[in-house]
This record gives sequence, structure tokens and C-alpha cells, in this order.
Amino acid sequence: MAKPIRALDTKLIHVGEPEPPIGGAVSMPIFQSATFETRRQTGYHDQRYARLSNTPNHEALHAKLSAVENAEAALVTGSGMAAISAALFSLLGAGDHMLAQNCLYGGTHGLLTAELARLGVAVDFVDGNQPASWEPLVRPTTRLFYVETMTNPLLEVGDLEAVTRFCREHGLASVVDNTLASPVNFRPVELGFDLSLHSGTKYLNGHSDIVAGAIIGRAALVARANRTLNHLGGALDPHACFLLHRGMKTLGLRVRQHNQNALEVARFLEASPKVARVNYAGLPSHRQHERARRLFEGFGGLLSFELKGGPAAATRLIEAVSLPYVAPSLGGVESLITRPAATSHAGIPADERRRMGISDGLIRLSVGLEAAEDLIEDLSRALETC
Ligand code: PLP
Repeated sequence: MAKPIRALDTKLIHVGEPEPPIGGAVSMPIFQSATFETRRQTGYHDQRYARLSNTPNHEALHAKLSAVENAEAALVTGSGMAAISAALFSLLGAGDHMLAQNCLYGGTHGLLTAELARLGVAVDFVDGNQPASWEPLVRPTTRLFYVETMTNPLLEVGDLEAVTRFCREHGLASVVDNTLASPVNFRPVELGFDLSLHSGTKYLNGHSDIVAGAIIGRAALVARANRTLNHLGGALDPHACFLLHRGMKTLGLRVRQHNQNALEVARFLEASPKVARVNYAGLPSHRQHERARRLFEGFGGLLSFELKGGPAAATRLIEAVSLPYVAPSLGGVESLITRPAATSHAGIPADERRRMGISDGLIRLSVGLEAAEDLIEDLSRALETC
């Protein structure tokens, strides 16, 4: 009997599960094996080997991930950066040129400006909200356009519809890091993106206990990235596959609660006389709020804000809060608080960082799944010290 599997929450639980269940187990077993018996297989490409991301644990995840973003194919990777580097290395070579949004996750910014530049790939950074400025930068060697669904840590929402249109018109691959939205809030392939990338470390897994990544999108491009990943050696190990698989089953529930909690915390912060500015696409004051409402089903759990008291007040607030852990990363069940200038974006020279709009006093809060009222009480008490 065919299972009625249409909604995202049903897909998260039922797609990719072994049929019939292995030994009757309702939970995907871990195939903790680097290599697999070949006698009954027909050719080299049938050989299973954990680095080739084709063990039963990998394949179950590939089916689940592609189904939840309504894409043709998916590939899990050993980290978000492994997903980003495998995707970009598979699409770019010496002499090529790419366009990239001008405020990206620090690790991605480093990959573009240090590694890709060293290997002969030219990058132009563009304002994701100024489509008219993109055209003059296109060269005969331009291959792709790289953006983030919402930028980290400023939560800008670029003109994503214009990006996919522009890429179609110019024959460029469109690549988006969809980590902050998660497949629950946004499914890039539905808008026309070729590849959607994730740090699975964040919402996909959701429990801050593994590092993982994913490449989701057109089958030909995912296969190409897979060949590159095989050479780079960035596969996810079977045990981490198991944890990611388990974490994903509650993705829908978790992300909807992250959306709700973050909206409540953002509203509270915006109303505080100590707060100068809150960056959260769910607030009507956000510059791209209307676009975010049109494209997304929710606004995610990450927000950032600045205090009227500047960097000194930011340091005091971070010392005074008791529920959020003072730690980098995001998307876990527990709230995490950081100052990007000192953590995720510390590698970017200070003047460039400030040009990007990341002030030294900017605070980034990954709102977890604690009760919103407790988080607000904690923040309210901490703000009194600022
Ligand atoms: N993309 C975004 C938006 C991130 O925030 C991060 C990590 O913070 C990454 C990618 C890299 O992911 P990972 O740490 O899993 O390599």
C-alpha cells in the first residue's frame, strides 16, 4: 500500500527509510562499516565505501534531504564548509569568475578570498539588493552567483527572485546557502536555484552534537559535487549520518518553534529603550520584511541587535545573560549568544567588517527552544546592567 507522503513533516519521518524496515527496526540502523562486500556487485560504481557517500546511511539521508526541498538530488557532507567547498570547487576552475553577495558567513568569505583567489578564481562581491549593479560585472568567464537566504549575522534578505532570473539570463549557476532558513521556511529549488547548501550542524540536525553539511538541487550538479567531494575527502561518517537522520525527524516541529520564539524575543528587544536596532526579517521594521513574508514560511531562529551603549554594553549583556550559552554556531535547541566581530567574523579585517555593516557591538542571538518567556526574563534582567 502506497504511503500518503506529501507534507514536509511526513517526508521528514518517512522518506528514505528502509522498506521493509531492516530487522523490523523503526529507526535506521547505523552501518558502521568503511567498506562493503563487492562479490555481488557489478561494477566500480556499485562499490560502497564510506568516503564515496554511498553507504545505506548516506543514501537514506540523500532521499530525505532531496524530498524535503522538493529537489532532484542531495548529498550529505562532513561539514557545512565541506558542502560549500565541494560545490564551488566542482563548478569553478582557474581563470573563472563568480559573483557573491557582499555579506557572507565568515568561513565562506575566507574560502572565496583566500583559497579560491589563490587558485585563480576571481570574485566580485555585490549588493544582493541592487540587481542593476550586477550586470556590468558579468564577464565571459563568469560561472556562478553565490548568495545566502538570509545573511549571517545581519539577516539581510537579498533579491532572491532577481538572482535566479539573472542567472537564467546569463547562463550562470545559482547557489544559495539556505542554512538560516532551513527547508521548513524556504525551499530554494522551488524558486529556481540550482543548488541549495546547508550547514547541517545547525537546524537540520538541531542538537549541536555533530558537524555536517548538505548539497541539494539539480541531479547533474549534485553528482558533479559528489565527484569533487570524493576527491576532497569530506564525507560524513556513518555515526554522524545516523544522528543527522534522527535530528531531521523533528525539523518541522523545531523550526516552527524557533520561528515563534525568535519573533517574540525580537519584538521584546525592539521595544527596549536600551536597544538601538534589531535585525530580524519577521519584524515589520526590517528593510526586506515584505519580501521575506512573500518568500518564506517563517523567519528562523537567528537575530542580531545593537545596544545604544555600543561594544562595552554588548560585552556586559553577554556576561549577564544566564540561559544562552556564550558560544558560536546556531540552530540548536539551546540559545547561543556571540559577538560576531569576536567570533564568526573575527577573521575578516576590522575595516572591511565594519564596511559590511558588522559593528564591534553587534550581538548575535540564536534563539533556542527554551520557553520564550524565560528567555525574555533573562534578557530583560541582563539589559538592566547595560
Ligand atoms: N553557512 C552558514 C550560514 C553558517 O553559519 C556556517 C557556520 O556557522 C556554515 C555555513 C559552515 O558550517 P559548518 O560549521 O558546519 O562547516
